[in-house]
Amino acid sequence: MVAVVRPRTAAAAAGLAVGDRIMGINAQPLRDAIDFQFYGGDDCLELSVEREGRRRALRLVRRPGADLGVELEAPRPAEIATCANKCVFCFIHQLPRGMRRSLYVKDDDFRLSFLHGNYITLSDLDEATKQFDQNLAEIVSQNAKIKSYVTKLESRASEEEEQATPGASDLPPASQLVDEIEQFMRQQRPE
Ligand code: SF4
Repeated sequence: MVAVVRPRTAAAAAGLAVGDRIMGINAQPLRDAIDFQFYGGDDCLELSVEREGRRRALRLVRRPGADLGVELEAPRPAEIATCANKCVFCFIHQLPRGMRRSLYVKDDDFRLSFLHGNYITLSDLDEATKQFDQNLAEIVSQNAKIKSYVTKLESRASEEEEQATPGASDLPPASQLVDEIEQFMRQQRPE
């Protein structure tokens, strides 16, 4: 949903308005603000917009590198992915009662991290991984030069993996350390 249209920008010239719901760009359906940034990177955009229940097409052209002139609404609390972890030391659970409700949301949403720099735990990234893979596959399929570059990178990575010496590090895996710390804290917790 469009929250702001800046005057004297490509969005204003195309007739985009506050409250419009941008459903697609250049025939690509949009799932969220990340898709909007991804597909909105071109200078020539065919927008599919829903306004007052009706679909309409808007053509938006901007100078290379110029501001598009659009800000989208922030995701609503119900749309934010929340943390699935159960840390015994969770800082959200330690907050005093009676503060504003948004402070108690254990947000763990890659979109907020990407757009605003919020911390995420990286423990629940299936959806983000799928989206990233899909975006990457589209880019690769559309550009032969990038395709050959990615193929070279992948073959170099698998060669390096084969040459790596197993057991080169004395450190245990990070996941083992985290398990041990959590177990220790559980033991310290008063019943
Ligand atoms: S990862 Fe953060 S928000 Fe989630 S349970 Fe642990 S401390 Fe709480």
